[in-house]
Amino acid sequence: MSDELFINKYLKGTGASSGITAGKVYLLDRGAISITKSTIRETQVEREIHRFKNAIQAAIDELGGIQEKVLDDDVKKHAFIIDAHMMILQDDFFSHSVVDAIKEEKINAEWALDMVTSKFLVSFEKVEDPYLRERGQDIKHIYDRLMRILVKGTKSDIEKRNVKGKSIIIAHDLSPADTIQLNLNKISGFVTDVGGRTSHTSIVARALEIPAVVGVSNITSLVKNNDTIIVDGDEGIVIINPTQEVQKDYIAKQLHLRSQRKELLKVAHLKSETKDGFKLKAGANIELLAEMDIVEKYGAQGIGLYRTEYIYLSRKDLPTEMDHYHIYRKLAENKTLEYITIRTLDIGGDKFVSAIDIPKEINPAMGLRAIRLCLRELPLFKAQLMGILRASAYGPLRIMIPMISGLDEVRKTKAIIAECMDELRHKKISYNKDIKIGIMIEVPAACMISDKLAQEVDFFSIGTNDLIQYTLAIDRVNEYVSYLYEPLHPAVIRLIKKAVDDAHAHKIDIALCGEMAGEPLYIPVLLGLGLDEISMNPYSIPRAKKVIRGLEQDYCRELVEEIMKKDSPGEAKTLLRSEMVRMFPKDFAKSNED
Ligand code: PEP
Ligand code: MG
Repeated sequence: MSDELFINKYLKGTGASSGITAGKVYLLDRGAISITKSTIRETQVEREIHRFKNAIQAAIDELGGIQEKVLDDDVKKHAFIIDAHMMILQDDFFSHSVVDAIKEEKINAEWALDMVTSKFLVSFEKVEDPYLRERGQDIKHIYDRLMRILVKGTKSDIEKRNVKGKSIIIAHDLSPADTIQLNLNKISGFVTDVGGRTSHTSIVARALEIPAVVGVSNITSLVKNNDTIIVDGDEGIVIINPTQEVQKDYIAKQLHLRSQRKELLKVAHLKSETKDGFKLKAGANIELLAEMDIVEKYGAQGIGLYRTEYIYLSRKDLPTEMDHYHIYRKLAENKTLEYITIRTLDIGGDKFVSAIDIPKEINPAMGLRAIRLCLRELPLFKAQLMGILRASAYGPLRIMIPMISGLDEVRKTKAIIAECMDELRHKKISYNKDIKIGIMIEVPAACMISDKLAQEVDFFSIGTNDLIQYTLAIDRVNEYVSYLYEPLHPAVIRLIKKAVDDAHAHKIDIALCGEMAGEPLYIPVLLGLGLDEISMNPYSIPRAKKVIRGLEQDYCRELVEEIMKKDSPGEAKTLLRSEMVRMFPKDFAKSNED
């Protein structure tokens, strides 16, 4: 904690959950645990192993206790995250590694735990995928819990904090158990030292619509309880003890944002249709069942992309057919959505699932990823497909295959799906035999042969995040080349146009589910190109609908023709922006940035 009084101190982190809030700091600081490291005699080995095993049991009991005490339904929905921690604690690989270190190195349990965890964390830090890298935090939370039990021999939890009035929680990191123990009704914001957009704090904050900024390096050492703090979850900015003037500005911004949201929510459930009657479906991209409430609230017509990676990452073993089935059935049983697109596993290369043995690769983005891995690991692929098919008896599920680069992959996948259907038929288990099968168009090769691919499948969905990366040869997570990442690059627009035209020539629908779909600026382009559906983060849907409802598709077609004549993405963007400023002066006038 800081002794210094900071006035108007700006800090930058990652905006993890949208919205602005101002309030008093509630610092969750447990104080550091000091670890004694000591070597032991052979006769003490058993005692240390026993201490470690007792700590594991105590940690499992604590987590079980926390889960049971959760009464609030909203919070309960997120208690499943604790299961993942219990599973790691029960994982033989983890506990054997610590026990082996005690035996082999002749060191006390604390030191052994510290050594093993550091090794695990180093491996996680090397992972390029930010989502997976974040899972290292799970190991860190478990480490903290075990260490507190070992060192203090007492409970390792924050007590049910008596947060007075609305407060903003500042913590080094919040484990799922911490979050669940807090009285979330009294919390108006979260700020943490560590974490990214896919950390648990971020996921829970987004699902509960609480503004959050994560990864603000040393925020816990800079604030004191009762400091005033502003949290801007959209910009990823935190201001400690803002001046009256800054507070006034932010209050105005907050009120503006609130009234804008209120206004936008009125649009959320209106039709997603242009003035001249063209219907562009607006879907949601999600990765957790817990996000379904937001999907409905913000007016999605369907799920355009359900990323299934989290199902694999939140457990130590592989999910079974029945595990998949239960999740997808819950999605399918929803009564408000017209379609629910389950994307099969998009993992591999640099992305690590402990139960799958993936070779180390030099260039993982172009390696054994997604469908390539699934076609090699057939039991894993079939378990997921069987789960989707079983659940398809209960609602409008569709299957979507990522990273397709050739016809063979599609044909092989369809043959496997047919085998799965046969198996279900023999077992007399119902499924939707007409389930729609689609592919993601995210490798330039797929665009170049989209006429052929369109004859094989029921729908396309363009993944611009990857399509731009592979077309322009820009690593999507490399900050040095991010300036080249341009959705309006003529090469990208031509590829999208080709895929749309080929899809329509073969009478199949085509969606776009990359980040580009959630940017209002690009909507006239997507309308003009003739896409049938766009899918985005649920919060962006009302704004997208507002723009769609304010445009005419005929005009958008002409605009795309003009844009395609431009030599560079910069020129294209200038034209597009000036048109949007003209048509939506309130929404586009002020900003120069997109
Ligand atoms: C994409 O590539 O655009 C996409 C939607 O998939 P992901 O971001 O999961 O790779
Ligand atoms: Mg992709």
